[in-house]
Amino acid sequence: MDIKVHSLPAEKMKEKIKDESQLGFGRIFTDRMLMVEWKAGQGWCDARIEPYAPFVLDPACTVFHYAQEIFEGLKAYKWADGRVALFRPEMNARRFNQSGDRICMPALPEETFIDGIKKLVELEKGWIPTAPGTSLYIRPTMIAVEPVLGVHPSNHYYFYAILSPVGAYYAAGFKPVSILVEDHYVRAVPGGTGEAKTGGNYASSLKAGMEAKKKGYDQVLWLDGRERRYIEEVGAMNIFFAYGKKIVTAPLNGSILSGVTRDSVIRLAPTLGYEVEECQIDVNDLMADIRAGKVTEAFGSGTAAVITPVGKLCYKDEVLSLTGGQVGEITQKFYDTLTGIQTGRLPDEFGWVQFVG
Ligand SMILES: *Cc1c(COP(=O)(O)O)cnc(C)c1O
Repeated sequence: MDIKVHSLPAEKMKEKIKDESQLGFGRIFTDRMLMVEWKAGQGWCDARIEPYAPFVLDPACTVFHYAQEIFEGLKAYKWADGRVALFRPEMNARRFNQSGDRICMPALPEETFIDGIKKLVELEKGWIPTAPGTSLYIRPTMIAVEPVLGVHPSNHYYFYAILSPVGAYYAAGFKPVSILVEDHYVRAVPGGTGEAKTGGNYASSLKAGMEAKKKGYDQVLWLDGRERRYIEEVGAMNIFFAYGKKIVTAPLNGSILSGVTRDSVIRLAPTLGYEVEECQIDVNDLMADIRAGKVTEAFGSGTAAVITPVGKLCYKDEVLSLTGGQVGEITQKFYDTLTGIQTGRLPDEFGWVQFVG
């Protein structure tokens, strides 16, 4: 698909933040965005890169009422040699269409997703921060914009991608998070939308997150929606538990998000000397194993922070600490290896990196 590049008037160019320690996450956006539209009877059309600007949308649009929306998250890294790398973008392109299929949105050709993002990042590469741990976060999104209140799939969609320079997640060093196992609210049920990266899943998770914060926890660990017994995932991360050289994680059962970072951990593990098992994890067994000292480490995996050490787990008022608040050796190893491949410090033996330009 031909992507038209609209000119960027000088008065629309923004001031870039010079102090990269002030970037934070997802608050600053670059000068341009990618836009492609889909119209019933016509398909994908009008692909363009244009100045970043607010949308003018009819208040009746489907997305505002019935949440027909999907998104993705990936990062671009500026390597020491000046090249710009994306990490496994084909995985995001594929998952985007899987999410879209679940809520009846049209499939976007994977090459349009990838080529559009590459072209946008190439134009905006001056925005990519270079301090250790920083990157350019890419947020592809699709929204339903038909202005009608009837409940049915929209006849008009916007696919767009915006870019945000983001700071180092662990600017002050790795910080283990504390996690509350949620035993009342659920995130997803079998047959629901848990596997889709769709905004509605996040809206329904906010309340549990707020209540956990009030109790002093950083994030919520979801249990399965049927029995509230089996470990699913954490907020925007998948979760792994290490038993010595063996690492376990929940299987892709349809109600958890199939993380790109999760898949990368699973594929890297054997090369680092670990065995991974995808299996149902009963929270009661898990708590017993932590108590007994059999669980040596726990960590989350997701694009934003890559690997997040878990320092504390609370379930039904019992609080258990892991690795004594320290960062475990396995957690550190996966973090160093993944970020090493992403930033070009380590060889890319799996062919995960794609360059822009
Ligand atoms: C995006 C996301 C993840 C992590 O996926 P990555 O591809 O590794 O970034 C995990 N859980 C949920 C609910 C998510 O939305």
